[in-house]
Amino acid sequence: MNKVLALATMILPVIYLAQTSLESTTYFQQKVDHTIKVELNDMLHELDAEITTTYTNNSPKELSEIWMHLWPNAYSSGKTALAKQQYRDGDLFMYYAIAKDLGGIDGLDFHVNGSDVEWMYDEENPDIAVIKLNTPLYPGESLEIHTPFKVRIPSGKISRLGHVKQSYQITQWYPKPAVYDCDGWHAMPYLGQGEFYSEFGTFDVYITLPDNYTVGATGDMPAGSVDNDAEKLRLDAIDAETRKHLDEEDNDLSFPATSENTKTLHYHQENVHDFAWFADKRYMVLKDQVELPHSGRSVTTWAMFTSNEKELWAKSSDYLNKSTFYYSLWNGDYPYNHVTAVDGTISAGGGMEYPNVTVIGESGTDFQLNVVIAHEVGHNWFYGILGSNERVNAWMDEGLNSFNETRYLTEYYEGKDLGLISNRLKPKLIEKLDLDEFEYRWIDELSYLLPARLGADQPLQCHSDDFSSTNYGAMVYKKTAAVFGFMKQYLGEERFDKAMQAYFEEWKFKHPSPSDLQASMEKSCGEDLSWFFEGWIKTNNHNNWAVCKATETDNGLEVSIKNIGEHVSPVEVVAYNGDVEVGTAWVEPSEPGTKATVKINTEEATHVVVDPGRYDLDYDRKNNYSRTSGVLKKVEPLQIRALTRLEDGSKTQLFVVPTLGWNMHSGFMSGLALHNITVPMRDLEWYANPMMGVSEGEFTLNGTASISLSKGPWMARARGSRFYNDETLGWHLADIYYGKAPMHRLSFEVNRKFNQVVNSPWKSSLGYEYATRFGYPDEHVFTDNSTTQQSHKLRFEASKSNGDIVGFKQNIGIEARFYDLNLYEHSNWLPLPPEGIKDNHNLVAMLNYSADYRLNKRGKRIKMSFLCAYSHSLSEEGNFQLPTNGFGARNDVMGDHLLLERDAQDGLLSRQAPNLYGAMPIEMYAKTWFTSLRFDYNITQSIDLFCGGIVMDLDTLYEDYDAIMGMTYKLGILKFQLPLLSLTQNNESRLPLRKWTFSLNLRDLNPNSLIRKTL
Ligand SMILES: [Zn+2]
Repeated sequence: MNKVLALATMILPVIYLAQTSLESTTYFQQKVDHTIKVELNDMLHELDAEITTTYTNNSPKELSEIWMHLWPNAYSSGKTALAKQQYRDGDLFMYYAIAKDLGGIDGLDFHVNGSDVEWMYDEENPDIAVIKLNTPLYPGESLEIHTPFKVRIPSGKISRLGHVKQSYQITQWYPKPAVYDCDGWHAMPYLGQGEFYSEFGTFDVYITLPDNYTVGATGDMPAGSVDNDAEKLRLDAIDAETRKHLDEEDNDLSFPATSENTKTLHYHQENVHDFAWFADKRYMVLKDQVELPHSGRSVTTWAMFTSNEKELWAKSSDYLNKSTFYYSLWNGDYPYNHVTAVDGTISAGGGMEYPNVTVIGESGTDFQLNVVIAHEVGHNWFYGILGSNERVNAWMDEGLNSFNETRYLTEYYEGKDLGLISNRLKPKLIEKLDLDEFEYRWIDELSYLLPARLGADQPLQCHSDDFSSTNYGAMVYKKTAAVFGFMKQYLGEERFDKAMQAYFEEWKFKHPSPSDLQASMEKSCGEDLSWFFEGWIKTNNHNNWAVCKATETDNGLEVSIKNIGEHVSPVEVVAYNGDVEVGTAWVEPSEPGTKATVKINTEEATHVVVDPGRYDLDYDRKNNYSRTSGVLKKVEPLQIRALTRLEDGSKTQLFVVPTLGWNMHSGFMSGLALHNITVPMRDLEWYANPMMGVSEGEFTLNGTASISLSKGPWMARARGSRFYNDETLGWHLADIYYGKAPMHRLSFEVNRKFNQVVNSPWKSSLGYEYATRFGYPDEHVFTDNSTTQQSHKLRFEASKSNGDIVGFKQNIGIEARFYDLNLYEHSNWLPLPPEGIKDNHNLVAMLNYSADYRLNKRGKRIKMSFLCAYSHSLSEEGNFQLPTNGFGARNDVMGDHLLLERDAQDGLLSRQAPNLYGAMPIEMYAKTWFTSLRFDYNITQSIDLFCGGIVMDLDTLYEDYDAIMGMTYKLGILKFQLPLLSLTQNNESRLPLRKWTFSLNLRDLNPNSLIRKTL
């Protein structure tokens, strides 16, 4: 090979690589300037407008098309991406919306530089379109896009563009180019979650509307135009009028008549990426101003509100001023001239941010109004000025903003203890619930731990639409707030603020990415922060530190601690003498599994605590404590309380709950449940509930106990119970002769959940349970024979809801259970006693499927349930008969259910049946198999009609019904099923009401499931 050629082949790729990497790393940003003329028609709730957009291509590539957002079309039908997102989150308003509730954009006629152009809607999304340019737009060149447009303003109940009568919220309302950056075009449909990514530019907007409307909008009103000058005087007059009547009671929310005269207001703003406006004829106005901390420049603050929550809004100027001040102080001065908050009744969350102007929903309390105003004002920095891509990096605006919000509130209330819900609870109750020490910022930690302990947390770095709506709040907002709180604690306030201000200066009016934030902060601190961005942002790994040993040495205290978590992290160790802090030390960022030793220069420490301020989102704080001397060094001080409390890692928490119960043979029972179950749930939870019963003058010892260990999607649990009964297996008369005895049931189960994290409509789980049951009255007869029964069960369950078909839910369960039982052998019922005991091995397979369809807006439903079971004998004894009412095999032979009277032959209590998996409500026994199909239709909240049929193995012990009709009456955990009409296979009709049953799911009453259910 020729040397020159060889060299060229080596050099060319290098040049090429250098070029492409240069291309992909060189930051550029398009400039998009708009001039919009718009007129509001408040009779038809329409906008009539035209827009001219000057688009400047600052990219290194030529563009042959421009992608446009036509977001009002997100409201145009029940099939848009927005509608689908709402169904998934259980909101069916758009699905059932009528034409007048919906909205859209039309009348579009795009021209580029005055010429006709070809343009078309995106195939999937009516709120996206693409304009095909007649000639390419070269780097550095500009073009002008012009179109008229009409907007039908949708109902304010859907999302953020809308009207409630004549109160208008005009947001995301005009044709707007999608962002083009180094990753290409970012055309995206409007969604309620992770809305924004837009190009910066200058807006000139001329709004024509009846002259008695008050408008809050993005931008300044330049002096010089007659209407602008008059409007400024008008606003000052309303401000003066509002102040005069601020204390007066006023509940008038009616709309005054619309004025015949119109006005045209001109708004101008540079360096913003969006323009929103709000118009209402009822607005009162409070105008104020705030001096910025760094530049000393003055910013006007406007509050515009109706009399709906007037008494709360009376203080809103203070919230606006102080939030503008503190966000400026910590992040960099507010660069625009006004901050406006308007009162609006929007459905989508408590408030919404737009440049300069934010809309605030109904608040209820002073505190809540302050929270929402501060949060939305804060978005001027995180979303507005720092225009990150919220669809893919939502944590960069919602999260950083929430961090500042928590910090602002702590500052605003000056350390006055805000606690968890202190603005709602009475001080006495706060003390009683041990909440008086609870710090406000710990809510962020708690919000993270709730899903994390259920194995349902997600990495912060996820696409907005991949978060469940719960996790969008818990992760994007709260976890980000908590981890940046940790970062501030780690760097110290001064370094942290300097780093955030450096980020602000470097990236204001631009589109920063996560790596830009990291680079900016690292440059400012001169420190590698990849442990933070790799671990906390990109993964949902858990952080967990444990104290190994704290020993006093000649030159101070030596503490060795270990990173038993899943990612690299630093941590703070603090030494105490009683309640007094006597020394502190930081452990450098350390790999998982490493042990570190720190020296704390103190001689009088009594104990050490890892991260006592609760900054580092420690997954388990039960291993963060150690005394420096004595025995049981690592056992935290004991806290015994009634019911339950929030988890407190610095204490060994034990709770006591009084319990009551009753069943036929144990009698009335009372006892105390001891448990360690807190909020949030712990990985290791246990409870023990011994109960003393009195039956026929005799004392009975009863109770239940459980211990479970969860690890992400895995859960292992052991349970035990003991209750009296007079049941026998296969020999019904024994109780007459031998009375009652305690029945013990022990079980061990392992369960694995699937698809719990991803925003998939499917959820599924696979579980195994071993159960054993012993202790019968029969043992009086065969004292030398064990009558232990056991079973192995494998069950798979899956459910799908909020999938493609709105309002349609499906459940499927597949179960196989092997029974290893000792049953009495007897040739007939009498004589007594029976002849012996025989092993009976039986396999029962079961399949259940249900489909539930919501028929209308009010939640009327129809449900179909299918159940089939098959019993197969593995021993010579023959197979079990299958009860058709959902027990599985025989009459709850393994004691799975808590029954008021086991094996009741007649009377009220014999009517108790669990009726699981849509089983038919009449107890029958199929010889080897049965299949049933049933339909339920709810006529009221508590009454359902049902009908169904069953086919089974004909060789049964009792009558066989083929079809049943009846009704269900629901009362909490109690459910009555009343068969009204039945048809046997002999075509014989009868009234089977006497076969009514009830189900009572007592297992749901244990403290563990109660707490889990309420969360
Ligand atoms: Zn927000």
